[in-house]
Amino acid sequence: TTPDHLARSDVAYQLHAYTNAERHRAEGPCIMARGSGIHVYDTEGKEYIEGMAGLWSVAVGFSEPRLAEAARRQMECLPFYHTFSHKSNVPSIELAEKLIGLTGGRMAQAFFTNSGSEANDTIVKMVWYYNNALGRPDKKKIIARQRGYHGVTIASASLTGLPGNHRSFDLPLPRILHTRCPHWYREGLPGETETAFADRLAAELEAMILAEGPETVAAFIGEPVMGAGGVIVPPETYWPKMQAVCRKYDVLVIADEVITGFGRTGRMFASDLFGIEPDFMTLSKQLTSSYQPLAAVLMNERVASVITRHSGELGTFGHGYTASGHPVAAAVALENIRIIEERGLVENAAAAGAVLQRRLRALAGHPLVGEVRGIGLIAAVELVADKASRAPFDPAGQAGARVVRQAQDNGLILRGIQDSVAFCPPLIITEAQAETLADRFERSLDEAGTAL
Ligand code: PLP
Repeated sequence: TTPDHLARSDVAYQLHAYTNAERHRAEGPCIMARGSGIHVYDTEGKEYIEGMAGLWSVAVGFSEPRLAEAARRQMECLPFYHTFSHKSNVPSIELAEKLIGLTGGRMAQAFFTNSGSEANDTIVKMVWYYNNALGRPDKKKIIARQRGYHGVTIASASLTGLPGNHRSFDLPLPRILHTRCPHWYREGLPGETETAFADRLAAELEAMILAEGPETVAAFIGEPVMGAGGVIVPPETYWPKMQAVCRKYDVLVIADEVITGFGRTGRMFASDLFGIEPDFMTLSKQLTSSYQPLAAVLMNERVASVITRHSGELGTFGHGYTASGHPVAAAVALENIRIIEERGLVENAAAAGAVLQRRLRALAGHPLVGEVRGIGLIAAVELVADKASRAPFDPAGQAGARVVRQAQDNGLILRGIQDSVAFCPPLIITEAQAETLADRFERSLDEAGTAL
């Protein structure tokens, strides 16, 4: 098949997320054919640095033979077996034990799904089941955050705080609420320190819980560092303050570590970085480096003891997927985690991340750059029309998208989130490669910037 034919068929036959046929055709499909290390190559043979690790996920790079081998071995040995009722399979057991071990035993049990969306959907059902089991059927509301991203299934899309995921779908569901995004640059008041900002957000959360009635509020969910909402690193005191409010009103804390888990921020889990002690954790993406679809819900003893031991009037926990604990996905995850540990990729995220953060922060004086933010190997550069007033560009001008487009022409894949440009390269990136990535971005910013 020729690249032209593939491009035409892609537009004709495949429905893509977040575009339509007209826009897809106009932009021209970008079809990747192979990958190697931090690079991917399109059907024309053009090389790109994958500065987003695919969808924030390919930790070990695009050509890891050990993951292919782990999948092959498991497929030959036992390609599928489920985990319903008392049935199980070896890799899913080993993976559950490994994940609990990685949390230092702070979490007690794992439940597997195919995607981060399903994992968060599962947590919503677990939270509801938990409160039903405790005889508190009214304690069901879940508070999420504006600009948070938790997936796209009905409940997960409701948790997501982005208008594009709600509009036209009659979402969010009732009982799901959103509080303020912890983005100091945009949400902070004039003269307000980051600490005062965090205090205000915690006070707003408390006011929301009190207004709704604490007996109706079950859980609070957030990404330790927001990803798809624009890479928002909260103030240092934000999580401890928010968590204290949750504890005061017996509100469960859910840390969605789908992006941050497995080293992205320079720590194995970002919960450790911010002192979050979650009741639930959501893991996916870097769990298998996306070589296989897999996600995990981890729960602590407090909730596990209710969910796993309850069988009263509600019956046992009636929820599970055909592929929950899929042995091939689990075998790939185990090998992927082994590689992350053996190669010190968490430490590398801190070291190569320091290079990336230093280079991007050096752009803070650039006339088009309003804010540079990030930690470890996740970052964003927010473009502004006016530096002093922080005025954004007219959305019609597509400032972020234009810079991303220019970067793609220059062999670097990034992601535009409105006026912000996001960075999230594979954890295997070397310090020298991080410099090259930054060089290409700088050049792209200057080239595209003249037209903004
Ligand atoms: N949670 C977070 C923090 C995510 O970033 C994502 C995906 O980007 C999801 C959940 C949903 O995961 P999936 O796309 O696998 O359904």
